[in-house]
Amino acid sequence: MLHHPNKILSLADRSAFEQLAPHLAESSLPRGEVLAETERHIAKVYFPHSGVISCVVELAAGGAIETGMIGKDGQFGAGHALNGQVSSAHVVMQIAGDVSVAPANHVVDVAQRNPEFRKLLLGYEQFALAQAQQTAGCNAVHRVTQRMAKWLLRMHHLAGDEFSMTQEFMAQMLGVRRTSVTDTATELQRLGLITYTRGNMKIHNLKQIHDFACECDDDLMEHYRIIFPNAFESPSGQT
Ligand SMILES: [Zn+2]
Repeated sequence: MLHHPNKILSLADRSAFEQLAPHLAESSLPRGEVLAETERHIAKVYFPHSGVISCVVELAAGGAIETGMIGKDGQFGAGHALNGQVSSAHVVMQIAGDVSVAPANHVVDVAQRNPEFRKLLLGYEQFALAQAQQTAGCNAVHRVTQRMAKWLLRMHHLAGDEFSMTQEFMAQMLGVRRTSVTDTATELQRLGLITYTRGNMKIHNLKQIHDFACECDDDLMEHYRIIFPNAFESPSGQT
């Protein structure tokens, strides 16, 4: 496994990485940066080092709901590029971060010449689908408090224990109204699990948050381990 802040690139074999490296640029993306619009072609593939990308389905009535979060564990854009498809969601930086980014045509070219790298990219598409399915089930069945706790576990995994987050984004992520976000955050704060003030979220007790959450984050992490069995090995070599 290579040393790289992005998990997918760290799992790439050296030959594929060396073919892609000349086309990779590092960039810092601010919160709110739009990476893809619904039904538009995707020109770039993003491999985050930090920050969180959010995939949001926009509804005709004006609302929106999140179907997936992508961070240092994955990539955005490769699956669409490989299939020549348009984006099925509005994709935006939810938390600012650094990324490696490459033109989609170069990523496709390297993937076509390196079947193992192609498999890695498509593996994350499979994970993204699992995430969307889990989110649909979770939003339909689990209580808002459980869902917020589950979301905090995923955010902690991708962004650490402190990050800024608007109530509007949280409402989209949880599929609820803003008033429900306020009530739920207040409840978790009262229990000493988090502090949420002026858009700044701080996680205090991850174990208790885990106890509070539904099983969906654990299930999702299990999908990740099955798809990427080598993801948790120690890195070796250099990039
Ligand atoms: Zn759930």
